[in-house]
Amino acid sequence: MRTREEIARQERIRLEKEQKEAQEELARVREWLRTEVDVDADEGDPDLFEREKNLALVMALERKLESIATALRAVEKGTYGICERCGEAIDPARLEVRPDATLCLKCQLEVERIAHRAAARAMAEAAPPPSRRPKIIE
Ligand SMILES: [Zn+2]
Repeated sequence: MRTREEIARQERIRLEKEQKEAQEELARVREWLRTEVDVDADEGDPDLFEREKNLALVMALERKLESIATALRAVEKGTYGICERCGEAIDPARLEVRPDATLCLKCQLEVERIAHRAAARAMAEAAPPPSRRPKIIE
């Protein structure tokens, strides 16, 4: 079993590689978006679909780069593998499977339980009150 520090070191290498790839792809897509704007208004934009797809890709890549930067900061500060919620070290076995985990298993389950409860409450509130439900004819 590897230690948290060993996993952090390896995770940093993986993150930096992923960051470089995402940056390159982002540059490529942005370049495409810049060059393909020569559109004849009368003929419509045959590339509209492609352009919208690429704009969505740019946003997804930016989000990805943000989360990579956050993870790299954690590695640098030495807080990688520390639960954001309770401050306990995350089980290395969990980090092996989910190197991007920011919560320990206990907190993850707790957060999911809270989210499920909130969703269930929202569903219950969205449902019409009993009096407005159609009457059952006997
Ligand atoms: Zn925790």
